[in-house]
Amino acid sequence: MPMNIIDGKLTAEEIKQQLKSDTERFIAETGKTPHLAAVLVGDNPASHAYVGNKVKSCGQVGFRSTLIKKEADISEEELLALIHQLNQDPDIDGFIVQLPLPKHINEVKVTLAIDPDKDVDGFHPVNFGKMAQGLPCFLPATPYGITLLLERYGIETAGRHVVVVGRSNIVGTPMSILMSRKSRTGDATVTLTHSRTRNLKDLLLLADIVVAAIGIPHFVTADMIKEGAVVIDVGINRVEDENARSGSRLVGDVDYDNVAPKCSYITPVPGGVGPMTVVGLMMNTFQAARQRLSLK
Ligand code: NAD
Repeated sequence: MPMNIIDGKLTAEEIKQQLKSDTERFIAETGKTPHLAAVLVGDNPASHAYVGNKVKSCGQVGFRSTLIKKEADISEEELLALIHQLNQDPDIDGFIVQLPLPKHINEVKVTLAIDPDKDVDGFHPVNFGKMAQGLPCFLPATPYGITLLLERYGIETAGRHVVVVGRSNIVGTPMSILMSRKSRTGDATVTLTHSRTRNLKDLLLLADIVVAAIGIPHFVTADMIKEGAVVIDVGINRVEDENARSGSRLVGDVDYDNVAPKCSYITPVPGGVGPMTVVGLMMNTFQAARQRLSLK
């Protein structure tokens, strides 16, 4: 089978176009404009870029957005008070608190403080638990975006062996649950691997579909991939590049140039999973707005 590049950027644009017309119809019918708030603490450049993209996407699909910036020295108490205020605000359909947070703030406490009905990042244990049981919920944005990509590209998952590398709460673990669930982009046999896995290469060589979410540049190499496999690269790593004007560039967790020729499908970095994460968030926000008006 020839190698196909999964174009996350194009797919994200197409889905956002569709969402834009759904939003126009929703506003015409209900008089309500979906409204996302984003809380950004401190001055982490990557977080600023991610939140900037989220706010921009809201504009593209016709949502309102409110960006709330706080200094890195905000106390945990003040942040929790802000979350409480957003939970109560009838004008806000959903909100996110961009992670990571400064060290003195407990991220678990913050996640638990968010009203699950407004938790459009899908990080609250109520949403996570519902996801695990296959109940309607807000799915975490990155795994949600990946399932949309698999669906759009008609990639069969039922009965196939998926190896997920990385077990974070926001990518690896939810991805492994979603793909093993009885659903359209699920029904797979899933192996969840991590830093303590002993025979990672042997397991990867058995994979029909690989999802790499490790955070180490070019970790997955060609000798670990079976001929014809589907490779989804979630990693976003900045590496030095003296040929780039900025002196650096973004690469994934997969050694793309050498792995791609062996694949049936592969996502590039950038332009693969990244743009789809924002789409997942937009879909969740639209759903939150509908639910607040008791629409399915
Ligand atoms: P994390 O740092 O929370 O977790 C990394 C995981 O990799 C851990 O579970 C760890 O067990 C595993 N790991 C580390 N070393 C390993 C090894 N040698 N062998 C096997 N497993 C190993 O990571 P995360 O938050 O899931 O992010 C992973 C990557 O994905 C990062 O590059 C991050 O920037 C990127 N990311 C991208 C998006 C997106 O929208 N594309 C979203 C979230 C995260």
